[in-house]
Amino acid sequence: VTGSKGRPAGVQAARQRVAPGGTQEGLRRHNLGTLLAHLHLAGPLSRAELTARMGLNRSTIAGLVSELAALDAVREERPAGVQASAGRPSLVVQPRSDTVQAVAADVGVRQVTVALAGLGGDVVTRRQRQVTEPTPEAVAELLASLVRTLLSDPAAGRHIVGAGVSIPGIVRQRDGCVRFAPNLGWTDAPFGELVQRRLEGMRVHVGNDADLGALAEYRRGAARGVDNVVFISCEVGVGGGLILDGRSLRGAGGYAGELGHMTVRPGGRPCRCGARGCWETEVGAAAIAQALGMPDASMDDLVAAVRSAPGGRGSALAEIAGWVGVGVANVVNLVNPQLVILGGLLEDVFVAAETSVRASLSAAALSAPAEQLRLQVPELGADTVLAGAAELAWEDLLADPAGVLRRPGHRVSDPPRT
Ligand SMILES: [Zn+2]
Repeated sequence: VTGSKGRPAGVQAARQRVAPGGTQEGLRRHNLGTLLAHLHLAGPLSRAELTARMGLNRSTIAGLVSELAALDAVREERPAGVQASAGRPSLVVQPRSDTVQAVAADVGVRQVTVALAGLGGDVVTRRQRQVTEPTPEAVAELLASLVRTLLSDPAAGRHIVGAGVSIPGIVRQRDGCVRFAPNLGWTDAPFGELVQRRLEGMRVHVGNDADLGALAEYRRGAARGVDNVVFISCEVGVGGGLILDGRSLRGAGGYAGELGHMTVRPGGRPCRCGARGCWETEVGAAAIAQALGMPDASMDDLVAAVRSAPGGRGSALAEIAGWVGVGVANVVNLVNPQLVILGGLLEDVFVAAETSVRASLSAAALSAPAEQLRLQVPELGADTVLAGAAELAWEDLLADPAGVLRRPGHRVSDPPRT
């Protein structure tokens, strides 16, 4: 990527790259964003550490830090435990999670979770509510009402830089239109617009849940420093997010990575997408529920059942695990990842029946790429997708901190919209 020198690795996977351009101002904007990205991902750093990481001289770093401090995005302070009397104070530059915050939302098939995250990544506060009416309009309203509740908290932050929203479906990146979310029953739902209209003054970005899970694990979790990683999510359906050579794989329209709809069993069970024998029909929530003989179970009951079910050879779970291995083998043969992260229900299946997953994987995968593979569960746990939604919300800020922080944003002092 042109002009990406000195950029922290995680930010290479950013979905929108803003080239610094040839101008002095463009270069400064790029450097401000890069410095802030280092602090956002690594936490407090001294000026000397920033100088080393960015390859810029000390006076340039000092100028960037003071500009960010004037924008209330960072502050310099003595690290905890270091005494003022110990000679010259050694300060660290700290990202300000109290003044600069973003909204993250994870829209699931059954519930909506909304959080306020501070610069640096900490979740400041959160709310969750069940989805009772799964229409795009009703879910947008539910989401917006949760955001209003969070922002009415006087302890919440001062400048809200934007909102990132995760959807279990295929999302058109440019306008947040949900082209297809089979398990929500949505086709061509203008969800980004519906949310944007309700959160005036806030920039809203919508992304696919597995893409955002991959982004979060790459920046902050199990995939830090791993440039070829596949994140596979499973709530009701199965989704995939791929980062290859340090870049998110998007495809022509941003729809790449729909691993749940790889055909693994021609003529197999009908899928919500209209095809038959998709991977999702063999390893998704419905398949697991059926295998365990509890087709009407709630998600919580299903998760509990998977965790306590026997996973040994010949068990119902072992058969599901075998299909998990088949799908992972296809991914391994196709893109040669160093790391595949199994999230959601697939994490529980993997933990309960790892031997069966590995047996079918090694039977179907080519040995050269399989030798390089690590299989793992998400390091960020159940919050992976939510953390990814927050990262999506931060991208405008990290591309142009001064531009975003100087623009009149959605502030807590705004009267709540009804
Ligand atoms: Zn399908």
